[in-house]
Amino acid sequence: MSTTVSPAAAWWRPSPNGQAACDLCPVGCRLRPGQAGPCGTRANRGGVMTPLNYGRVAALALDPIEKKPLYHFHPGRDILSVAAPGCNLHCAFCQNWNLSQKHDAPTRPATPDQLVAFAQAEDSVGLAFTYSEPLVWFEFVRDTAVAARAAGLKVVLVTNGYLNAGPLDELLPLVDAANIDLKSMDDRFYRRVCRARLQPVLDAITRFVAAGVHVELTNLVIPGHNDDDASLGALVDFVAGLGRPVPLHFSAYRPAWKLQAPPTPRATLERAHDMARRSLDWVYLGNVAGATGRDSRCPGCAALLVDRSGYRGELKLTPQGACPACGVVQPFVM
Ligand code: SF4
Repeated sequence: MSTTVSPAAAWWRPSPNGQAACDLCPVGCRLRPGQAGPCGTRANRGGVMTPLNYGRVAALALDPIEKKPLYHFHPGRDILSVAAPGCNLHCAFCQNWNLSQKHDAPTRPATPDQLVAFAQAEDSVGLAFTYSEPLVWFEFVRDTAVAARAAGLKVVLVTNGYLNAGPLDELLPLVDAANIDLKSMDDRFYRRVCRARLQPVLDAITRFVAAGVHVELTNLVIPGHNDDDASLGALVDFVAGLGRPVPLHFSAYRPAWKLQAPPTPRATLERAHDMARRSLDWVYLGNVAGATGRDSRCPGCAALLVDRSGYRGELKLTPQGACPACGVVQPFVM
């Protein structure tokens, strides 16, 4: 793949003494000349904010779209998944810390058009920006999304939702679907474990939904940190209040990076599932074996809609996305 020229960074302001103020995410960095942000994706170069990751690809794979996880968006299709190093959160439990927190992870150059051509050659439904944090790959994600949309491909983000409203509103018209991490409903958890805040994430989720993007949410359930009934109940109440069906994925944590709490027991995930199902029609379990929270069933008649095994699903839905038994159209994008 050939080298691509990095454009100027978006969403920043010159500040006194050669500093550059970043308006991309709620961290709100003010960088001295030569200084890089803690996300590792932008730096002040001679008083000008410069993206460090434009056209730099650290991971590229063709994945089942269920692996994002997206269970209600083109189920059964593959999607070309790409990432650059870097993240604006620093979650002690990050399951992908080798990519998100190691800013010197090896990369190779790529252009938006090359990624689009690759996706088309692989019969991918689109491009997913995933594995690390796409919102701080802003300029490249934006430019690639424009090219992907022009080629008839879908654009997917797998994200922490930690972006300011202005850049988010610029990006959302280019996005078809997103899986957003909602790590906890406790601001202290975000501050202590992720070095971030809760409210901007809630605001971003609301903006994605209001913009008509297909949204699914993921909660990584960590023993002793966010697995109590009150925390799970608050999360379910928030999802139920979003005003349209939003699938919720509870995912099993495994010890990683700085957090060495024990792995999530299956019983904890099943408790979360059963609690959420009292209010939500679409609740799934991830990173764990077993039958609970695996398949999609019609909320009305309980008929099987998608029979899943691992990341692969056998569709029972009609081509129009209706239940094969009762005929009610279900909230799936086909
Ligand atoms: S995107 Fe990076 S540089 Fe900009 S405010 Fe967020 S953490 Fe700081």
